[in-house]
Amino acid sequence: MADVNYPKVQLLIGGEWSSGTSGRADDILNPATGQPIGKVPHASRADLDRALDAAQKGFEVWKKISPFDRYKTMRKVADLMRQRAPEIAKVMSLEQGKPVAEAQGETMLAGDLIDWFAEEGRRAYGRIVPPRMGNVAQMVIKEPVGPVAAFTPWNFPINQAVRKVSAALAAGCSIIVKGPEDTPASCMELFRAFVDGGVPAGVVNLVFGVPSEVSEYLIPHPVIRKISFTGSTVVGKHLAALAGAHMKRVTMELGGHAPAIVFDDADIKSAVSILAANKFRNAGQVCVAPTRFLVQDGVYDAFVEQFTATARAIKVGPGVDPESRMGALVSGRRVDAMEGFVADAVQRGAKIETGGKRIGNEGFFFEPTVMTNVPKDARIMNEEPFGPLAPISRFSTYEEVVKEANRLPYGLAAYAYTRSGKTEAALGQDIESGMVSINHHGLALPEVPFGGIKDSGYGSEGGLEAIEGYLNTKFVTTASV
Ligand code: NAD
Repeated sequence: MADVNYPKVQLLIGGEWSSGTSGRADDILNPATGQPIGKVPHASRADLDRALDAAQKGFEVWKKISPFDRYKTMRKVADLMRQRAPEIAKVMSLEQGKPVAEAQGETMLAGDLIDWFAEEGRRAYGRIVPPRMGNVAQMVIKEPVGPVAAFTPWNFPINQAVRKVSAALAAGCSIIVKGPEDTPASCMELFRAFVDGGVPAGVVNLVFGVPSEVSEYLIPHPVIRKISFTGSTVVGKHLAALAGAHMKRVTMELGGHAPAIVFDDADIKSAVSILAANKFRNAGQVCVAPTRFLVQDGVYDAFVEQFTATARAIKVGPGVDPESRMGALVSGRRVDAMEGFVADAVQRGAKIETGGKRIGNEGFFFEPTVMTNVPKDARIMNEEPFGPLAPISRFSTYEEVVKEANRLPYGLAAYAYTRSGKTEAALGQDIESGMVSINHHGLALPEVPFGGIKDSGYGSEGGLEAIEGYLNTKFVTTASV
């Protein structure tokens, strides 16, 4: 087992680390044991006011720093994340449950994301629009939108925060993040890198607390100009409505229920291996995890057999054990949710091919689970499972599977496996989803868009589009006299 120094969790407000003034704190649990490993302090109303004041002052400073100088500071932060990745990964694994190798990958990717946004900040170009009169100059200017309030979840404690922080900073905004209370320390290490890399006080602020109390105070506050949220659709709709009532800019990265379609002409071995790796990565607690497996008649039996064998062979254990390939779920809530999905499906006639139960009485482990004969009205075919459950269904025709893929209100990610160029092209057109990945798992690189449609939200957290979410477009026209 890896040796882990779990740090004391603090708030970062105006460049200062503290436990805040509320005197309230919750236990942080190790999901592999269910035992406390630390405390997460809650910000008081006074702490939030200090964070708002700091973000306003930080914005005044940061927006005046040239994009080139902002870029140089952010590149230093990216390097710090890479240098510190081995230690940060152990902390993340301990508090979140995922294997250290996955946590290390997430921390290294943070470096790439910060680099990408640092570079994009230098390219936040405006334009000159040809005038109708000779003495007029028409300019389109991109300006930072202002202080941002962001709310980030526990499944990727660094990745979900770094996309928001680095896009905001590259655009010239300051930010207050309400980080994940279940997994606060690794998120805190991201903020430590921004401080140590030389970002001025107040530009990045980190708080924890009761999520609804913090969001209901920050979102309407006049200092805040932009909201970004990653989490469940139900909470996202609530926060988007609140933001709408106060006319705030919004990015919403919400839940999904990704169809994974396997056609008769697919390379089955490759489909099984890639889909299983992505189904059980982070114990399935991934918004773009494949969640509805739709397999064509001709390869159905072979796919079920190979996928089940792969799931059964996954070594489940504490994330900090290098032998573990899948860790514990983040909390007892998620184990209860898995039990609920399985019981409901079985009661409606589903067959468990493997798994279906929690593992042991210590910690929050759940077996990699494969189910067949799951009827469409089972809860798991309609609600985001967010865990290691794979329901596999069969289909006969292209039209039938597209209809099923598009049936739900979600539209985040979709996957398909086929050797037919015609089917590939048609899927790219017909699937209602923000991201469609065919014959590989090609999502979430810094340079490509990342986001959903329909109930999965709006706005992007990757690619050129992400920084746009933090910029205002201003038009300035001048007639020379
Ligand atoms: P939850 O709905 O209680 O919380 C989900 C996230 O939203 C958490 O980060 C939480 O802190 C935050 N949140 C909840 N209420 C909030 C509020 N009023 N204001 C601000 N933030 C608020 O559920 P949970 O048990 O933590 O997670 C389970 C569900 O959340 C999953 O089923 C999944 O759909 C969703 N989720 C999605 C993502 C994602 O990457 N899209 C990440 C984590 C969780």
